[in-house]
Amino acid sequence: MQLILLGPPGSGKGTLAADLEELYRIPHISTGDIFRRNIREKTALGQEAEAYINSGDLVPDTVTIAMVDARLAQDDCRQGFLLDGFPRTLVQADALGRMPVLRNQPLTAVLNLVVRDETIIKRLSGRRMCPKCGRGYNIHSQKPAVAGICDDCQAALTQRADDQEETVLKRLQTYKEQTEPLIAYYREQGLLFDADNEGTIEACFQAVRQLLDDRLSRS
Ligand code: AMP
Repeated sequence: MQLILLGPPGSGKGTLAADLEELYRIPHISTGDIFRRNIREKTALGQEAEAYINSGDLVPDTVTIAMVDARLAQDDCRQGFLLDGFPRTLVQADALGRMPVLRNQPLTAVLNLVVRDETIIKRLSGRRMCPKCGRGYNIHSQKPAVAGICDDCQAALTQRADDQEETVLKRLQTYKEQTEPLIAYYREQGLLFDADNEGTIEACFQAVRQLLDDRLSRS
């Protein structure tokens, strides 16, 4: 199964991806996670990407495409993959279509997560993370027992630099300008499926699961 998760920042792509990865046993490839790992490890790629990410801009296409091309060429992608956060521009979508991995395994579906702007802003600016164990929290909906402290390892919770409200607004604008055109691009190819994610992630997961099972049984 070759899947793309499309949707604005904060639409729940990462959370849904973790569930789909487990269900379909395909690697979850998040370009945002790969960039953040490179920033933490202070690699040349991380140093190149950091300023773009912290200001809510996209990392240039050439850098991002080369990174994804290398990742999709790895053996674990031969049975399928789940792309989260890529492609984000039409140039990236065209490049993906030409990558060798898609020659024998065409895209199964592009899932477009639909969430209102107000919900996104609240979700992202309330998001916190434990720097030690990686557990995610939200000051509105998934509070820790003690404010600002991880329930599991008692470390002080942190906020992603690009989750500050001003940067969230910039990321949303970037999404509308550069990524939203992909909805029409994949709809024209008959690959796009909308999935509402205003409610619980469990409801969204079940709806997506149904949709993918229907699609697989028809192919
Ligand atoms: P994410 O975790 O998916 O929200 O990504 C965080 C940030 O990484 C984005 O705001 C971009 O700056 C950068 N990024 C992730 N994926 C891409 C991509 N496909 N193209 C360009 N920049 C990206």
